[in-house]
Amino acid sequence: CGIVGYTGADAAKGILVDGLKRLEYRGYDSSGVALEVSEGGTTRLDVTRRVGKVAGLESELANLDDASTCGIGHTRWATHGRPSVANAHPHVSCDGRIAVVHNGIVENFQELREELEGRGHTFRSETDTEVFAHLIEDAYAASHDLMVAVRDACSHVVGAYGLAVVCADEPGVIAVARKDSPIVIGMGERGAYVASDVIALIGATRDVVMLEDGQYARLTPAGIAYTDEDGAPIEPDVTHIDWDI
Ligand code: GLU
Repeated sequence: CGIVGYTGADAAKGILVDGLKRLEYRGYDSSGVALEVSEGGTTRLDVTRRVGKVAGLESELANLDDASTCGIGHTRWATHGRPSVANAHPHVSCDGRIAVVHNGIVENFQELREELEGRGHTFRSETDTEVFAHLIEDAYAASHDLMVAVRDACSHVVGAYGLAVVCADEPGVIAVARKDSPIVIGMGERGAYVASDVIALIGATRDVVMLEDGQYARLTPAGIAYTDEDGAPIEPDVTHIDWDI
């Protein structure tokens, strides 16, 4: 239902929670975030999910410090699998090093899930979304490039998606994809932002890109690179937002 993401110089936690609160008006049953945490020279993903209000997620996140500067968040409106912590996003790969948030529906998820289980993947939820985490995990093992892996995963999926992905092996990078589900991206003074609704970006930046179907974005603290589905660089149209909330 709602997607937010941030990578930059500031603490990601507060930015994600603030963004999720602005998306609450759309309705949801659960929420969650994945934050990149660096310890002793390595990076891991810290995933927190809750059923119910974003305020509940926020109080659970109070235990976490503000060191993380990159993460993704989601408010879920269940389509496949009941509202529960296990079904809330983000969903992670088997090794826990890739996390995804997804809006939309994967129509061929049953077939993809069976294929992935046949290759040894263990699923932890009843959602259609989780196939993305496992597809990206396999593609990443082959390419060691998150954007290549996300494009590869999307090529297997039939359905609709707004997608934001982080990978502990590429700290500071958020990979974004879109098909039939809105995605808005913007560069602020203190980092790069993604959301499913421009309302989550107001205050951070006024110049935004409304991603089009088949376009991909790679967000880093230093900037945003856009490509088509073959990975060729593109120059997207920029929309100036001149209203306030
Ligand atoms: N189909 C996904 C799920 O049921 C995403 C739903 C949404 O857009 O929030 O988890």
